[in-house]
Amino acid sequence: MELVRQEKENHTERIADHIIGEVNGQNPGPTVIAIAGMHGNEPTGISAIEEVLEVLSPLSESIHGRFIGLKGNLTALYESTRFVDEDMNRLWVTSILDKIRRTPYEELSTRDRREVKELLSILDPIVFSDQEVVYIDLHTFSGSGGMFSITPDESRHVELLSQLKIPLIFGIQHTLIGTSMEYVENAGHIGFAFETGTHGTEAAKENAVAGLFVLMVSLGFIPATKLDKFSEYYTYLMDRIEGFPHKVDFQYKHVIEEGDEFVMNKGFKNFDPVQKGDWLATDRHGRITAQSDGYILMPLYQSQGNDGFFIVRDCE
Ligand SMILES: [Zn+2]
Repeated sequence: MELVRQEKENHTERIADHIIGEVNGQNPGPTVIAIAGMHGNEPTGISAIEEVLEVLSPLSESIHGRFIGLKGNLTALYESTRFVDEDMNRLWVTSILDKIRRTPYEELSTRDRREVKELLSILDPIVFSDQEVVYIDLHTFSGSGGMFSITPDESRHVELLSQLKIPLIFGIQHTLIGTSMEYVENAGHIGFAFETGTHGTEAAKENAVAGLFVLMVSLGFIPATKLDKFSEYYTYLMDRIEGFPHKVDFQYKHVIEEGDEFVMNKGFKNFDPVQKGDWLATDRHGRITAQSDGYILMPLYQSQGNDGFFIVRDCE
């Protein structure tokens, strides 16, 4: 990869750089959009999408719908950083998007906003058409342990994602404002985040590939019989999620503020059980303890990001 993203003069080229590839099925069906690298330090999902495209490409006769693979924050991806000036995955608020659409490209205040404008040129015509859209935002995390999906607790989301049997996290979307899945859902489609594993690991890639195929089969996008390795993907996925809770509710988020010097205690993995009062992290004001019982989620082991950790609990 180039070290610095060239500011291409040509608007069309800049937009095209976001497209990893697409496969148009010969039968009617939903438009499945998989995006990765919304955070630039999370390129693993891009390799997963490339693998999925490779498998799907020769199968267009059997495909019902259209698959599009996208890259998120190209500038941040080139710089291997979560974002350049501001978190791109907190900008998808209706009013901010409207401002980004109205502002000429050169006048946008940050690089990350330019990236959003480029993506909107691709996404708006799809999301605001009468096509049925399923939008999967692939992420990885700095800690370790399992995989999960952040999704609204709505029947059409839950029905589809239950086929994957990965843990579903409800309610986090209310504390993470401006994610791109919010933009897709507001337009009446299915949109969710799929957190597939630790940054840069082979497991995170394999989890994403297996998850995407099981999802596409569940959607009727492609028959399982057309995928040589479907039973392999399925068994692999089921093995990986054994022992994890299936549905959990958001309970608590530790917000990191400027100058806190937050350090997560070592050794926490996703879904480790914690009890109220357990010592979880430290900042310059002292020890940070668990405010409630539950499972720990997304403990932060990297410098960029404002969410120290989450606590979730089994749904009642
Ligand atoms: Zn991310």
